Amino acid sequence: MVGRFAPSPTGIMHWGNASTALVAWLQVRAEGGRMLLRMEDVDPQRSKPEFADGWRRDLSWLGLDWDEEVAPQSQRGPRYAEALANLASQGLVFACRCTRRDMEEAVSAPHGSFMGSYPGTCADGRWPLDGAGARRLRYPDDAVVLRRADGAKLRDEPAATGRSGLHDAVVLRRADGAKLRDEPATTGRLGLNDAVVLRRADGAKLRDELADTRRSGLHDAVVLRRADGAWAYQLAVVVDDMDQGVTHIVRGRDLEDSEPLQRFLHRAMGNLQPPEVAHAPLWMGPDGHRLSKRHGSVGVRNSGLEAAQAVGRMAHGLGLRDRPDACTPRELIDDWRARGPATLACGEVAAASFLPLHL
Ligand SMILES: [Zn+2]
Repeated sequence: MVGRFAPSPTGIMHWGNASTALVAWLQVRAEGGRMLLRMEDVDPQRSKPEFADGWRRDLSWLGLDWDEEVAPQSQRGPRYAEALANLASQGLVFACRCTRRDMEEAVSAPHGSFMGSYPGTCADGRWPLDGAGARRLRYPDDAVVLRRADGAKLRDEPAATGRSGLHDAVVLRRADGAKLRDEPATTGRLGLNDAVVLRRADGAKLRDELADTRRSGLHDAVVLRRADGAWAYQLAVVVDDMDQGVTHIVRGRDLEDSEPLQRFLHRAMGNLQPPEVAHAPLWMGPDGHRLSKRHGSVGVRNSGLEAAQAVGRMAHGLGLRDRPDACTPRELIDDWRARGPATLACGEVAAASFLPLHL
């Protein structure tokens, strides 16, 4: 088992980050696996070396160790370029010169074609791949998905298209945010594999819902490289996880919608065994939104607690322990073995009930 901490050095470690890191560490250490640290500094404007140093210090302070620090994303551009070329050689990339405003206008037109959140304007290949513009992912038109966690297919149609196993999934929600299918709720996979489009090889739609949900496909045509040349997180993270042999990922539940897209990219790039992904609970502020800077000072190091107290509070909130007593991560390994699945199944934790917030 190989897991990773993958902080973005664009700010300090707050309670949500720390909790996710704790869960990731417990998952790997409970299995005797190997933990990597990777700085996801793919955004050159927002990433700062002093934040990366802060993360190393704060993880160590909490007692969360790692076995190796791998190359930061800022050094991996040539590898991402190779991956993009690989996808392009499969017809999975197009150049896009749309502005934000172009896209808003296109999706508000009454008969715009369905391409998910991107209106599809440039998907006809009107711009050369070696010219200006962003690079977007082109999903194949035919078929998709899906399997439930028990392995059963949700639909048989994709089998008939000849492309079936390849493309699992795109999460779809209606414009009002409702999921299209409930099945995933019962699969224990957190809504990851729900529903999907798109069209069969003969052009027929698999589902009619899509007709009125032009904006519902979250991941179609995602940007892989921005128009300014910066690499998109979604491409970088998949290439890194693949190259670094990551087998298990823990991240915050706010990122769960990324899983189908990332699985798609893994498979498209030849990794037929994408990492297992688990989603750690989110810490929620008193207003019902995910705890963040706008709630005030939510950094772990400036909470006034000692490290063991901070770990104990998080463990209590995560449901690993019944009491918030101070403890080290290592002392939680047995609790994790007993209660890990319940922890992961718990979607949200009311931060104010467990943590000393200075709001
Ligand atoms: Zn475009």
